[in-house]
Parts: sequence; C-alpha cells; structure tokens
Amino acid sequence: MRTLFGYVSAIKELVMRIGYAGFQHESNSFAHVPASLQKWKEAGILYGDEIRAEYESSQATISGYYTRLRDEDKVELIPLVFARLTPSGQMSQEATEFLFQEILETISSHGPWDAILLPLHGAAVSDLYSDADGELVEQVRALVGPDVIIATSLDMHANISEKLVRFSDLVTSYQTNPHIDAHAQSFIAADLVLRTFRGEISPVMHVASPPLIVNILNQGTSDEPMASILAAAEASRKIPGVLYVGVVEGYPYSDVAEMGMTFIAITDGDPMLAKKVADDVALRAWQVREELQSGAVAIDDALKEASEASAFPVVLFDVGDNIGAGTPGDSTFILHAARRLGITDVTQALCDPESVSYCKELGIGSRISAKVGGKIDSMHGEPFELAGKIVALVDGRYEEPKPSHGGFRFYDDGESALVITDDGFTLLLTSLPAMSTSLEQFRAVGIEPSKQKIMVVKGVHSPRPAYEPIAAKMIWLSTPGASSSDLSTLRYKHRRVPMYPFEVDTEWNPDG
Ligand SMILES: [Zn+2]
Repeated sequence: MRTLFGYVSAIKELVMRIGYAGFQHESNSFAHVPASLQKWKEAGILYGDEIRAEYESSQATISGYYTRLRDEDKVELIPLVFARLTPSGQMSQEATEFLFQEILETISSHGPWDAILLPLHGAAVSDLYSDADGELVEQVRALVGPDVIIATSLDMHANISEKLVRFSDLVTSYQTNPHIDAHAQSFIAADLVLRTFRGEISPVMHVASPPLIVNILNQGTSDEPMASILAAAEASRKIPGVLYVGVVEGYPYSDVAEMGMTFIAITDGDPMLAKKVADDVALRAWQVREELQSGAVAIDDALKEASEASAFPVVLFDVGDNIGAGTPGDSTFILHAARRLGITDVTQALCDPESVSYCKELGIGSRISAKVGGKIDSMHGEPFELAGKIVALVDGRYEEPKPSHGGFRFYDDGESALVITDDGFTLLLTSLPAMSTSLEQFRAVGIEPSKQKIMVVKGVHSPRPAYEPIAAKMIWLSTPGASSSDLSTLRYKHRRVPMYPFEVDTEWNPDG
C-alpha cells in the first residue's frame, strides 16, 4: 500500500520519488570535546546538489545510492541535507536540534515520497537523545507515515537500538573494518528499496543484540575471529528467502544501553527465518567471545621493537588516541616515551592549532621552540617540548584517489605546519584532528611515508588501507586515552549489565 500522496505521484508521473537525508557522527562519551553546532557548520552542512557534487564520485554511502539508482527509468533520487563530522565527544543539544530540524523540514517540504534513505552512522549520542540515530528514524517515520519505505544505512560501528530497527523497513551496515565497502552496502540498500517498491519482495527484519563487545583491537574483518563470523553471515545470505545479513561490531566508547554487537537478518516475508539467521550468526560470535577481547603492546616494548627492526617503516598505532573514535588527536605519550628511550626517528601528525598559528607567524625556514600537543584534556599526555625548524606550511587539504577507510576523497586537516626537531622527530602539526587514513597527508608536505623509519598513526583499523602496503611491521600500542583498548579504565554509567567482557560470567541465549 502506498499513501494517498504516493498514489497521486505514481498515477501522475509513474515516477518513484526517493529522498535522502542524514547526519553521521560517532560519539565518544569519554571524550571531552563536544560535537557543537559550530563544529558541524565548519565541517559543512550540505544541501541538495551540493551533496551530490561531494559524494556521487566518492566511495562513501551516498555514492552507492547513485550507482544503483541513477540509470533506473522513472526513479528520482533527491538529495536533501547531509552532514558528517569527525568523531568526537557527544553532540550538543543545539547541534542535535538544528540537524533534526533541517532533516525533518527538508523531508517535509520536498515530499511526497515513496522512500526515504537515511545515511547515518548509528553511534551518535547527543545531550538531548542518548540514541540520536534511533530518535531520528522515529521522527522521520512519524513525519512520512507507515507506508513510505525507510532504509537506514549504517557504519559497522553502529550501536543499533530496538527503536532504530522498529521504525526502519531495512537496515544495512558496512561489513568491512577498515570500512572499504560503504558503497557496496548502500548499493544493496537502494536495490532492496527498489524491489520492495516494485512489489517483488516484502522485507522483514530481525536484529539480535547479545550483551557482547568486540574489543577495538579485534575488529579487523580480515583477521580471526571476525573473518569467520563474517564468512558465516555471508554464507547465510545464500539461504533461500534471505535478502540480507549484516554483522555490526558496535562502538564500545558510546556509553549507552544499546552499546554492543548486533546481527541483522532481512528475509522475504519470513520473520521466523529472519530471527533464526540473525540468532545463528550472533551465537557464532558469542561462542568465540573470549577471542574477541585482546590486549595491545606496552608503549616502551613497542618502541624498542620498532627501533631494533631490520626493515622500515614500522607503523605504530596509537590506540588510545584513535581520532576515528572521537579523541583529540594530540596525545603525546609515544613521543615522550620515544625521547626518554633515545628513539627519535619518529614521524607523526599531531593536532595543535595554537602551534600551527605560531608557525605561521614565524614563517617557513624559521626556527621554533614550542610545546606541542597534550593540550586538549588531561587524558592524552603532557605537551611535548621541541626545538627545531619549520619546513612547510600548507592549507591541510589533500585528495585521496584510491579507496580508503570510509571511501572519502577530499580531506581537510586545517592549516598545517611541518616541523623537524633538532633531535630527529618529524611532526606534522595540524589545526584539526587528522585521521591517518591517507599517505597523501604527508606527501602534501613533501614527506614520503614509505621512506620513514618509525611512523605513528592515530587509529586502530582506519590507517590500515593506507599504511599496510608500505609497512614492514605494524604494532598496536596500549596507550592511555578516551579510546583505550583497556575498557576497564573507562567509567561506564549507562551500558547494559551484565555484559561480556565486563562481567565475565554473563550468559546469553537468543530465546531468553
Ligand atoms: Zn566505523
């Protein structure tokens, strides 16, 4: 059944009208810098064709919608409003109200609709709504009514709530971490929407939510045990009547009730089968729950191993300052330890807008003495004192033509300065927290990453597509911070209890 508006539209033009709108934020409840409205505006809130211009040729979620739908006769895909912000602390009330209003208003004023696509992240927490994604889907549903198809496309770090599932007809998620299949998964979402509208399928969905976390270090989808869990999900996609199966890793740094892994199954009109398939994959993960938790290497041990290596570069992952998980990007624990150990051939980016301004005042070629990093909060180390030379000043924009984490193409680290210290550190100071997802970041300042000895990257999985091909060795470090891999260091107030691994005796059975 279509709505009255849907019928009128169909009869008059026989065109399927699909709108898309959304926001994407991964909110770290333990990080101190909030996702304020000002930050969203600086990052860019895009409307209409601006969204298409930015994303159609990318590999991000929205591009998959275009690839599937642009050549379809009688299908109109209409961009409404979209914003994406690098992970940080929780969204402010002001930002949440503004984004909700823009999304709901553009959906309302550009209708009627046959379908709405919602490219969200799934781990947005706001001061207004702890489940910001689920709340948005509920409000969109209330606006468009029960007969418009709503398909929600999520990141693999989504913490999927019962509410988000209840008000969506279809939920899909990336199935790779690092995320290199955003385009492929949203292509599937758009395809399912089209087939649903044409009456070819009647999707029903079940999402299993065991009280289970997969540690950030074990989330690599080409590593075990995630690889086998995903293979099981892939195999169950071939069961007759199954339309989609998704494994969602969840985001352990959102302190919310729905935090944890989820398992999606969508079938053609068979709710029992959907439940069985989702539960079976969930059980498979539950059985290897111990293997889904593991530790990282101590900072000093990792630095010694790196300095004694026979091939370079050795890439050190700063797990506690994982910008992709919402941290400030200015952690100095590794730098301080390296200097203490006399290991100084270290190259890394560090967020410090104040020091970038100072470099600009001094100019290229000048000498500089400054304290950099460790300034945003008390969790990410003390400022690092340096004396050296300013080698480059750039606007911080660069382009990554190859598929990378999230499929993004255009990067903006803010104005940046390259400083080489007298004792051998090569530091790229940026004005914005700069994820380590593209080698072009360093090439833009004349540094070839593959020729460095030790490179520090901020992240766990997101740097891998860029750095794995050039790394002689990769080591994940147990650094303190708001994205520490040691979850016992974080003070949760809202997570489910009991939950594995916090309560090691937690039991779970999909039938309660
Ligand atoms: Zn993610």
